[in-house]
Amino acid sequence: MMLDDIQADVARILAEAGRAPDAAKLLAVSKVQPNARVEAVLQAGHRSFGENRVQEAQGKWPDFKAQFEGVDLHLIGPLQSNKVRQAMDLFDAIHTVDREKLARRIADMAQELGHCPDLFIQVNTGAEPQKAGIVPAEADAFVKTVRAMDLPLKGLMCIPPVDEEPSLHFALLDKIAARNGLSGLSMGMSADYEIALRLGATHIRVGSAIFGERITPHR
Ligand SMILES: *Cc1c(COP(=O)(O)O)cnc(C)c1O
Repeated sequence: MMLDDIQADVARILAEAGRAPDAAKLLAVSKVQPNARVEAVLQAGHRSFGENRVQEAQGKWPDFKAQFEGVDLHLIGPLQSNKVRQAMDLFDAIHTVDREKLARRIADMAQELGHCPDLFIQVNTGAEPQKAGIVPAEADAFVKTVRAMDLPLKGLMCIPPVDEEPSLHFALLDKIAARNGLSGLSMGMSADYEIALRLGATHIRVGSAIFGERITPHR
């Protein structure tokens, strides 16, 4: 299956780049995929997944989690403040923290629930008006804000502009992370995970290359 090919490819790239075999986590992005395809990947032993809508994830993952042990679920799409509780109940990591109000809400809920997923700040590296994420110029200040809330901040995430060379954006994300002492880099998708891994990605988010084309595409 395609999962095997991607896993082998990731291993090859990491070795070539002189990185440890476990230096990067492959997140299988299962959004809008039929449950049968997701189940096949679970049956194959894969456990790390990405979803980009809370509601959609709530519809399938509680059952999969009951069926398969050790599921590691990452939210990679936008999070509304009113969905924070549901997100924190379901996800092991949230890659899309991008505003103070949201961070505050997560911090309050962490107090109440007594646990908090690993957090990544989404950086809008291309400063695209329609895209979520904190702009690069405000990233350092926002890292401080999140840290001041005593939250488990692990790293940064980006989605490069579609028509630009992704390596520039990955390098920028790496630079911002390094100067802020953050080790997590969530970057790279089906089309560009190789370059992301070479530039230090610790989490790659791969959907269509594993599952095939999405039936209803949404990014
Ligand atoms: C859908 C999605 C992906 C996976 O995209 P593919 O091109 O199918 O690999 C990765 N990251 C985010 C944020 C996404 O929404």
